[in-house]
Amino acid sequence: MTDRLYYHNSFLYDFDARVVEAFDSNGRSAIVLDRTAFYPTSGGQVHDVGMLTAAGQQIAITEVADEEDGRILHFASGPLAVGTQVHGSVDAVRRRDHVQQHTGQHVLSAAFIRLFNMPTVSFHMGEESCTIDLETAGLSVAQAQKAELLANEVIAEDRPVSIRFVPLEEARQLGLRKLPPKQTGDLRLIDISDFDLTACGGTHVRATGQIGSILLRKIEKVKQGVRVEFVCGLRAVNTARRDYTTLTEAAGLYSSHIYDVPEQIRKSLAESKSAGKAQHKLLEELAQFSSERLLAQTAGSPQVITQFFPDRDALFIKLLAQKLTAGKSAVIALLASGAGQPTLVFAQTPGQKSNMGQLMKDAMAQLGGRGGGSADMAQGGLPSGAGNMADVERTLHLIAATLQTS
Ligand SMILES: [Zn+2]
Repeated sequence: MTDRLYYHNSFLYDFDARVVEAFDSNGRSAIVLDRTAFYPTSGGQVHDVGMLTAAGQQIAITEVADEEDGRILHFASGPLAVGTQVHGSVDAVRRRDHVQQHTGQHVLSAAFIRLFNMPTVSFHMGEESCTIDLETAGLSVAQAQKAELLANEVIAEDRPVSIRFVPLEEARQLGLRKLPPKQTGDLRLIDISDFDLTACGGTHVRATGQIGSILLRKIEKVKQGVRVEFVCGLRAVNTARRDYTTLTEAAGLYSSHIYDVPEQIRKSLAESKSAGKAQHKLLEELAQFSSERLLAQTAGSPQVITQFFPDRDALFIKLLAQKLTAGKSAVIALLASGAGQPTLVFAQTPGQKSNMGQLMKDAMAQLGGRGGGSADMAQGGLPSGAGNMADVERTLHLIAATLQTS
């Protein structure tokens, strides 16, 4: 078993040790030391990284794993011989961050128990943020804010955090927040003075003030309850800084104060909705006008109208096709638009013998697009930017010619 120096001191970054085992593990060099300050991934907390120095040679430790038999494996950038004396240095910045997130989780989990009796069933530490899953049917924003406030008060009170080792039987009497599922030997208890007592093998602050702060983020329903995302310490500062930068940029676009951004967005959404309605009304009027003009210019029965609109989109030619074929006289409209995705719309006044769906299929086969529809109304689309619009116009005229002679 490896002697876990971090059990007694979470702020020990440098130590001396001896290599007791060294082997190749799937192409990586795995090293076991007699003692280590490197924390292995376990209990939701992520492993440390750092360096081992032996006879002036530096080897990077990129991952640390906990073995069932009590050994700690250090995955290293190079091999070391058994018996080598090494000096280990843990990446202190990364460790401090982990200590802040991890102890912050103890405080937050205890706050949810104290306030709402919501136990934490799992903890995850990510690269950017951490999450706990609470066993509860629901969690309101107000409840989350209460827990956040209590947790930050406990941080501000700078309560001592102590470690002690207690036999399992004795621990059972102490009313721990969490007991490990299987345990042999003494339990390692983390005691946040008069606030939380739990069994844990992780690394923690000396006093809650070192956590700095806790900021709650997203709250979402998950299978086992409610997931609460949070960040502590410097991560909370970085996250708040990023939020502020984002909000300032949004406020700049509206030339408003950051707190007025939601109101500005509501206003702007309402404006764009009403502008959209006005535009649609104008488009309908334009379609009506165009329809009257085209019908007046076209002779024959049925009146076959062939028109390509390079600057209009699919919505306009659909509206126009409806207007053209809504009257009493027999009309067949063969329309194409060039704005956005090039689109074809074929429509006829109901009750005529032509089949628009079939004509559209034929046209698409020639032009390399996809489309179809009913006997009276059909639509087809051509790949954006592809094809020659002159081909489209020629196809429309060829179809029109067959309709007029038939
Ligand atoms: Zn812990």
